[in-house]
Amino acid sequence: MEGRPTWLEIDLDAIVHNFHVAKQASGDQTAVFPVIKANAYGLGAVPIAQALIQAGANGFCVALVEEARVLRQAGIEAPLVLLSGFTPGVEQAIIDLDVQPVLFEMEAARRLSRLCTALGVEVSLHIKVDTGMGRMGFAAVKIPAILEELERLPGLRLIGILSHLACADDLAGTQTASQLALMHNTVKQADGDGGGLIRSMANSAGVLGHPATRLDWIRPGILLYGASPFFPERSWKQDGLRPVVRWVTHLVAIREVAAGTPLGYGHDFVTRRFSRIGVLPVGYADGLSRCVQNRAWVLTHQHRVPVVGRVSMDLTMVDLTDFPEVSTGSRVTLLGEEGQEFIGVEEMATWMETIPYEVLCRLGARLPRYHLTANKPFGTHFATPFA
Ligand SMILES: *Cc1c(COP(=O)(O)O)cnc(C)c1O
Repeated sequence: MEGRPTWLEIDLDAIVHNFHVAKQASGDQTAVFPVIKANAYGLGAVPIAQALIQAGANGFCVALVEEARVLRQAGIEAPLVLLSGFTPGVEQAIIDLDVQPVLFEMEAARRLSRLCTALGVEVSLHIKVDTGMGRMGFAAVKIPAILEELERLPGLRLIGILSHLACADDLAGTQTASQLALMHNTVKQADGDGGGLIRSMANSAGVLGHPATRLDWIRPGILLYGASPFFPERSWKQDGLRPVVRWVTHLVAIREVAAGTPLGYGHDFVTRRFSRIGVLPVGYADGLSRCVQNRAWVLTHQHRVPVVGRVSMDLTMVDLTDFPEVSTGSRVTLLGEEGQEFIGVEEMATWMETIPYEVLCRLGARLPRYHLTANKPFGTHFATPFA
């Protein structure tokens, strides 16, 4: 990566701000377990976890034991909830890494119990109930029987019950209320007064849009990373969030071509006039999807400049004809602000015909990631090879 004139800047202060948006929405009684699965949606789980511990996070959610291991190896001791990795073979890692698995399958509990018994240890876990997501979890009616069996399994300590919202981004719909009602019912049946188990349902959309789903602890993900969970109905600004990612590159070449010149793979784009075409050293291997062709813009010298032709693996072309001041080495912003202009993960998601989550998760592993704070603000600490 050395010298690559393309990188991501991740604003930890903005993530902490967004964390406080979730925390303030939830009140003091509710614990916050930020979701930092998939390397914190591609933005770097370790520095983000460290910043969020400082900010008061009570623990974290990950999807895989591999993700938990990265955090433990970095010295993060906070509680870790393992959302979806309870498959055969990971029992030892669950014990070694001291993670709290989410149980959605009884055979998994028996496997874990056997190992815990053999080693003389105890694992705390949560049980997942399907209140309407229809993807994972025990049916609500089965919960009392499951709890009975769990009580008889040594080495397991059931501490919580959780469920996942299917339609919380729909602010008007009734689905979330039905899920919540079923959750309350299930807990009541399972637990009498409901006092024993800690309960969790809310993702970002639940936290911001459905206050009653906050329960004992919340699991915000996307809102931390600066996108509204209600996008495209709402955007980050309306939800009081701050953008987190800036994606910067620099022009590596500018070519002048006659009108009628076909450009790039498939000759999909043909110039209509004498053109100055800039080349950016980023492509779909970095997470700029091929389907942004004919739709995407980038920012340079405070202008919006259109992407032209097909995005290739490592290179992308832009039309600079109207911007003679732009030269080789000029900084180009793919995500973030430049002057009055701004391109966020939400806008990029519409070009990619997807949601902000996927834009973030697809940011290429080969992009260097720099984590910045107030003392180390955006855009100031990286010399480009052209400077
Ligand atoms: C990913 C995930 C979340 C976070 O969802 P966001 O929409 O990003 O807030 C919460 N809970 C579970 C079970 C998840 O898998």
